[in-house]
Amino acid sequence: MRVNVIGGGIIGLTIAWECRRRGHDVTVTDPSPQRAASQVAAGMLAPVGEAYFGEEALTALLIEAARQWPAFVDALGEDVGYRTEGTLQIGLTADDVRELSRLWRYQESLGCTVERVVPQDIEPLLSPRARGVRVRSDHQVDPRRVVSALARSVTIWPEPVEADLTVVAAGCGSAQWGLPVRPVKGVLLRLRGPVGLSHVIRGAADGQAVYLVPRDDGEVIVGATSEERTDFAAGAGAVRDLLRAATDLVPDLAEHALAETCVGHRPGTPDNAPIVGRLDEKTLVATGHYRHGVLAAPLTAMAIADLVDGKPLPPLWHSFSPGRFS
Ligand SMILES: Cc1cc2nc3c(=O)[nH]c(=O)nc-3n(C[C@H](O)[C@H](O)[C@H](O)COP(=O)(O)OP(=O)(O)OC[C@H]3O[C@@H](n4cnc5c(N)ncnc54)[C@H](O)[C@@H]3O)c2cc1C
Repeated sequence: MRVNVIGGGIIGLTIAWECRRRGHDVTVTDPSPQRAASQVAAGMLAPVGEAYFGEEALTALLIEAARQWPAFVDALGEDVGYRTEGTLQIGLTADDVRELSRLWRYQESLGCTVERVVPQDIEPLLSPRARGVRVRSDHQVDPRRVVSALARSVTIWPEPVEADLTVVAAGCGSAQWGLPVRPVKGVLLRLRGPVGLSHVIRGAADGQAVYLVPRDDGEVIVGATSEERTDFAAGAGAVRDLLRAATDLVPDLAEHALAETCVGHRPGTPDNAPIVGRLDEKTLVATGHYRHGVLAAPLTAMAIADLVDGKPLPPLWHSFSPGRFS
């Protein structure tokens, strides 16, 4: 089958890769792949940390998505910065910890394992005020390395190519197909320096939500804002708030250099969940992955490849069809 995937972000490229593995003739169309949110994303694979009240079906999907990552990394056959040390969820003030505790209890009620720990025993550079839990099953990957590994397996064309089947995987651009996808702007910082963290740290410092994602090459990602805006400007206030929260959590980060300020647009949907399924006889869709597109990419690609192969969508996906908004 000739398949044209529209969109060269992590969703489109993983779909293209999976369809090629299954023997299809695949092309990818994208006039500006460098603008993809996938180039900005932190790469947390965190179904537990991302489990929020009222999103049980999404959490079940994301837990299954996380299970796909080890086999996906093996099949890619490249070092894409997949790290399994786990995640600390941290609060700094009593109010931060009280607020986060509600979430930890909810995560446990879903059957997720959330361990009470002394965080400084695990990450000695954390502020002495930090209190929190460890989630061993929330991992990380470097999305830029994943995207470049995937991009080597396919040619990306600027214009649409003739095909038997089209897959719309255009992130925020999917709105052009009448889908309810809107950009949710995120500012994220990349620091470089000597501080050695090994775990992902998610938390709150005086009410400011922040996460730190340490890479093995000395980079520390600090993210991220969430703004209903379409511009690409990194506001001074956003940068200040992120740096303040990051250095409150790990004071030694003040010694790092601010290497890069990034802005990306998450493809958000009305219910914060992806849109995956069939639009018409010749068009499939995989979009709206909002905060979870990196985590959900391998599972999404398998679902779309099943449809391309003429198989039904696995039941886990039934709550996420494009028809649910009509
Ligand atoms: C600050 C930030 C942090 C994030 N952190 C995480 C994280 O830790 N973990 C996680 O799982 N997710 C994270 N995300 C979310 C993740 O980045 C997205 O869910 C994911 O990138 C969506 O992938 P995508 O391929 O659908 O969209 P994109 O990566 O945006 O790619 C879409 C591509 O489609 C192209 N396109 C648009 N219109 C057209 C058209 N008409 N024709 C052809 N091509 C078109 C665009 O040029 C773009 O290259 C984060 C996002 C942001 C912004």
